[in-house]
Amino acid sequence: MTNLRIGCGYDVHRLVPGRKLVLGGVDIPWEKGLLGHSDADVLTHAVMDALAGASRLGDIGKLFPDTDPACKGISSMKLLAEVGRLLEGKGFAVVNIDAILLAQAPKIAPYKERMGETMAAVLGISPEQIQIKATTEEGLGFTGDGSGMAAHAVALLEKIS
Ligand code: MG
Repeated sequence: MTNLRIGCGYDVHRLVPGRKLVLGGVDIPWEKGLLGHSDADVLTHAVMDALAGASRLGDIGKLFPDTDPACKGISSMKLLAEVGRLLEGKGFAVVNIDAILLAQAPKIAPYKERMGETMAAVLGISPEQIQIKATTEEGLGFTGDGSGMAAHAVALLEKIS
């Protein structure tokens, strides 16, 4: 059997006024932010779900229940660091991560590289191992009308011990 494991992740959060917008660990100036128990970093949540899936850790709802007071308002970078530690504990190394954010606005392009670098640093991998992409959904659906953002991610892991 191969030592490679693939995982997929998906997440959605509602956009509301009066919240900070944090994506991939990067603060983005915008009139609205994502609503959630943590900082609601939808991109990082999809990535963590992909990592958790590939390593059979379950999903982030199981790892970090939204009923846990310790997770209230927490930076998703802290959660990502914990997922990284759990992966390592199970003997997995990240091969690569590919993620796509679905958002109508603001423009994400100026921030994509920094998001990848930030998440790579937290996971202790090279920025070359992570690709962050973004698209609009052409004004369609809940991302198109600005009521929310979504993200998809896939992760490939290698069992090294
Ligand atoms: Mg989430």
